[in-house]
Amino acid sequence: MDMMKAYVFKDVGNLVFEEKPIPHVKDPDDVLLKVKAVGICGSDLKIIEGKHHFKPNTVLGHEFCGEVVEVGSHVHHVKIGDRVAIDNNIRCGFCSFCRMGLTSQCVDIKTSALGVMRDGGYAEYCLVPEKQCFVLPDEIDDILGTQVETLATVVNGMNTLLMLPYDYVMILGFGPIGYLFAQFAKNIAAKVAVTEIDPFRRQVARECGLTVWDPNEVDVVEKITDLTYGRKADIVIEATGNALGQALQCVTPGGKVLPFGMDSSVNLNIVPNEITRWATKILGLYLGQNTMVPSIRIFQENRLNMGPFFTKVIPFDEGLGAFDLLGLDMKTLEHHPKSAMKIVMKF
Ligand SMILES: [Zn+2]
Ligand SMILES: [Zn+2]
Repeated sequence: MDMMKAYVFKDVGNLVFEEKPIPHVKDPDDVLLKVKAVGICGSDLKIIEGKHHFKPNTVLGHEFCGEVVEVGSHVHHVKIGDRVAIDNNIRCGFCSFCRMGLTSQCVDIKTSALGVMRDGGYAEYCLVPEKQCFVLPDEIDDILGTQVETLATVVNGMNTLLMLPYDYVMILGFGPIGYLFAQFAKNIAAKVAVTEIDPFRRQVARECGLTVWDPNEVDVVEKITDLTYGRKADIVIEATGNALGQALQCVTPGGKVLPFGMDSSVNLNIVPNEITRWATKILGLYLGQNTMVPSIRIFQENRLNMGPFFTKVIPFDEGLGAFDLLGLDMKTLEHHPKSAMKIVMKF
């Protein structure tokens, strides 16, 4: 039996680099990918910590692209040799949410995600349903190709926000998601400010020419009020999962708040009357939705400054060290300051 190397999530706190048999196509709708590159996502760290839904004995990795090397008998749209980006969230296509266009609410979405509930891209090979594959143009290299799905979630956010050229925009949290939103806002909005607790990531924000504040050091409500001539932000994007209360304090009357970051352990007391009185629009959304093709177009036309986004590209075998750079001690599961934005493992 031919073997491959993979990072397998055994259980909370236990990610193991080991050999596994190379999978082969059995389902007629599947394709086998030779993985070219895979990004390490904040939610992979949360899985390892047990703070995200997980399934033991699963190969992690949902931000990946690869080359098609085997196809099932029903596969007609991709062919051997195609280089494809992956939407890791498998939508059934049959539930009423799918059939009414709200595929992010598919009843099966939590049970089937690649790299979470079934084997993903932290491996040399990965089996993927054909419909999750999106052929990449030559302008998008393997490293950028890992981030099409990440961008697709942000494009879903942009579709929901309908950002305007005269908007004042504030982004809470400058991780990879905050970074991508900030690039759009820089292209579109009148003014943009971001907040970030991590010094390394604040430095990346400055490299991008952004106004950035440490929310532990300054009063961000005061700061955004000053920056916007007393008005506050028309749009606040909450990209941390724990700052919705602050987002509501930073938004102008009639403005929009996008709770984008995810942390299911956070509770919040709010005053409903203030939402009503200040006509605040709180816009929930989840994952990408029909946004993989738009994201490929945005990357193909080089519309975002992605230079400082990728801190490091490391060989696949050296992946375990990356989690430390992203702030997680793999032995104690304790957090320390991050020294990276996005790290990609490459074969
Ligand atoms: Zn991700
Ligand atoms: Zn469905």
